[in-house]
Amino acid sequence: MFELSSEHCTGCGACMNICPQNAIQMQANKEGFYYPVIGKDCVGCGLCQRVCPVCASSSESCAAVPACYAAQAKDENLRAESSSGGVFSLLAQYVFERGGYVCGVKMTAPDEASHVLLKDEKELKALRGSKYVQSKTGLVFREIKKLLDAGTAVLFSGTPCQVAGLKSFLQKSYDNLLTVDLVCHGAPSPLALKKYVEEHGCREIINFRDKSQSWKHQNISYGSNRFSYDEDDYMRAFLSDLSTRKSCSSCPFARLPREGDFTLGDFWGIGKYNKNLDDDKGTSLVLLNTPKAEKIFKTLPLKLKKSVPFKIAVKGNATLQKSYPAHINREVFFEVLQKYSLHQALSTGLDISKNVAVLNFWSTLNYGAILTAYALQEVIKRNGFRPYHVYYVKSWAREKYSESFSRRFAEKYLQLTSYVETVRDFKKLNDFFNTFIVGSDQVFNLEYMAKDMEKYLLGFVRPEKRKIALAASFGDIKPELMKINQKLMQICFDRFQALSVREKQGESVFKQWFGLKATAVFDPVFALDKKTWRKPAADSKKDFPKRFIAAYVLDDNPEFEALLQKQAQKYRAEIVRIGGSFEVEDWLKAFDKACFVVTDSFHGVCFSLIFEKNFICIGNKSRGLERFCSLFVALGLDKKLIALSDYAQAKTIAPDYRRIKSKISEQALKTESFLLKALQTSVEPTKSGETSAMRKLLKKEEIKNKLCYIFRRLCSKICFGQKRKYHKSMAKAFKAAGKNCRKLRKFLK
Ligand SMILES: Cc1cc2nc3c(=O)[nH]c(=O)nc-3n(C[C@H](O)[C@H](O)[C@H](O)COP(=O)(O)OP(=O)(O)OC[C@H]3O[C@@H](n4cnc5c(N)ncnc54)[C@H](O)[C@@H]3O)c2cc1C
Ligand code: SF4
Ligand code: SF4
Ligand code: SF4
Repeated sequence: MFELSSEHCTGCGACMNICPQNAIQMQANKEGFYYPVIGKDCVGCGLCQRVCPVCASSSESCAAVPACYAAQAKDENLRAESSSGGVFSLLAQYVFERGGYVCGVKMTAPDEASHVLLKDEKELKALRGSKYVQSKTGLVFREIKKLLDAGTAVLFSGTPCQVAGLKSFLQKSYDNLLTVDLVCHGAPSPLALKKYVEEHGCREIINFRDKSQSWKHQNISYGSNRFSYDEDDYMRAFLSDLSTRKSCSSCPFARLPREGDFTLGDFWGIGKYNKNLDDDKGTSLVLLNTPKAEKIFKTLPLKLKKSVPFKIAVKGNATLQKSYPAHINREVFFEVLQKYSLHQALSTGLDISKNVAVLNFWSTLNYGAILTAYALQEVIKRNGFRPYHVYYVKSWAREKYSESFSRRFAEKYLQLTSYVETVRDFKKLNDFFNTFIVGSDQVFNLEYMAKDMEKYLLGFVRPEKRKIALAASFGDIKPELMKINQKLMQICFDRFQALSVREKQGESVFKQWFGLKATAVFDPVFALDKKTWRKPAADSKKDFPKRFIAAYVLDDNPEFEALLQKQAQKYRAEIVRIGGSFEVEDWLKAFDKACFVVTDSFHGVCFSLIFEKNFICIGNKSRGLERFCSLFVALGLDKKLIALSDYAQAKTIAPDYRRIKSKISEQALKTESFLLKALQTSVEPTKSGETSAMRKLLKKEEIKNKLCYIFRRLCSKICFGQKRKYHKSMAKAFKAAGKNCRKLRKFLK
């Protein structure tokens, strides 16, 4: 049976209107938004899915880049009662004059807005003005269809998703239908309005756009009460994107081409473009998306009608091209709203002091990376903070990883920010977080950071925010690369409040290269015990043989194969190769259920220890040996047990788990206390000039790197053999370091 996810369903009601069995009801969910619920009368005809505008868009007939105008109605009373320049009412009058009907939104109760169909212009006043709550469309699409089929003209106005819903429901175009979509940054929750009305004891109809004092600095009012947007809980929740519908943060209609013949909005920023176009009484933004709209617009009684470049409209209303991400604490806001007052929900929602942004490699195709991210999230949570993993996927990996096991696991178990991509997106994170953690994993590996150095070194984070490196690793250190990037890294590391590394070697890297003190802590995966890891493992549906050896091998070779066969004979067990097609839950279950493990992966070793398995560890030199050695030393295991070359001689590691377990808990506790202390560190108030001084330094570095690049290029031309190769690679590294300086300066702007 058709069911659109709550993340995507806009609540337009097209499915309910089309259902020949009347099997669909729109019901409020716990956030107060209406969603279709299919009842037992459904006969499975599939019509509801076919008309869903989210599944099939309907805007082909609209212009890709429409004509754009700033407009004001001639009638000043009408303009005063409207939200912007009053163009909607002029269009309604145009249709009424031709014997048509107008469908728009009216407050049908102090806490309820609904779409209604009007025949009489006298009632038009009730449709004027934006009602900042999601409206009920009810069965109005069916009524409209009847009128259209009878040849009556109809004007329909609504949010773009509602216009798309109507057009999709109608399944054909009508000459006698005129549609208006609003510039829409989101529809607020009916539950939030209900609470507001109850808490204010408000019996009158609310005017959400009281512009009696000013269009740009508006109020919300009812009866004799008037509040500025800044002091009103309801408007604050709406404008900070806490109370809007889930689908609004990934709105498929926040783009060109538009859904309606006309698009209407407030022409925010028009005064900056031309102050004569802004008298602070309201200027409409009008997009003419179809020839029909162009024709009608010419006939409207307007005081102001000025063609303006479309890019000016986008400047004031970004939602014309891209949806607004929801506030990071949206879920928290609704959790509190269900139980307590709107005021409490708003205060909790706006409180970002406990929000922690975590940046690491969770999205790569790597079981260790995603499980480290999960473990860190759980540890932060149990200490009373709100962790969110930064939803960043490197550009080259976007398509490759879109259907990956890590993505599926993350969507199920990780709390993620909205998708970040640009410098602006990264900087915007500062509005929602007071603390930023980078780690765990090889987040400081120069080759992995590559072009993203400014991100992983937290260059985008404002000085007054807390910056923590948690169990970060440099991986395999290449001194030449370190030298080239040293200054750049120094500038960034100096801004951190707490530095911890995963390997002992990291402590000395910080000391020798940057003169900074870092603490070696354990990988966060050890902070969760076997019992806790079994929870996600329990979601695995994979069947395993009764007795098997788990082989988790990153870099396979024939020697490894021989070793596996030998162990399989020894243990009289089947071999199960884990990885690749395994879901993360299957991967965990494999470690839990195996009788023995063979692995060349660092996290393979970690999970063998967590699930108390005997195992063989092949030291993986190409991926970095230091982390294996560091872990073995910390747990008192013999480093010599790590097989380095002769796999045939590889020794079984059979730790005394009673002893190891207490060592692991001791180390895990150390990691957790480091984290807790770091999360509570106070951050010095912004040092004025800090960023501009850093920008100057980076500029200097950039010039130096450029010169070095030119020098190495020259050398690579005049040298031969190995030397030429060496100079070429150095030139490449200097060039990249110069680019990183430039990018970091951009971040610091
Ligand atoms: C939820 C919402 C969010 C909006 N966000 C933006 C924005 O980010 N930027 C921007 O420039 N403009 C936004 N608008 C549009 C803007 O507020 C005005 O509605 C628009 O400029 C038209 O104004 P007007 O002066 O021509 O006519 P008005 O008389 O103000 O016209 C109001 C029109 O809006 C319709 N309407 C009112 N409430 C609702 C509702 N809840 N759902 C659907 N239709 C409704 C009425 O039916 C009527 O057609 C939003 C409107 C709504 C309802
Ligand atoms: S499948 Fe057909 S009958 Fe069932 S809910 Fe959808 S439209 Fe109605
Ligand atoms: S038709 Fe509209 S209400 Fe129905 S599922 Fe699709 S988006 Fe949701
Ligand atoms: S933002 Fe998109 S989904 Fe949300 S109400 Fe507006 S048009 Fe509909």
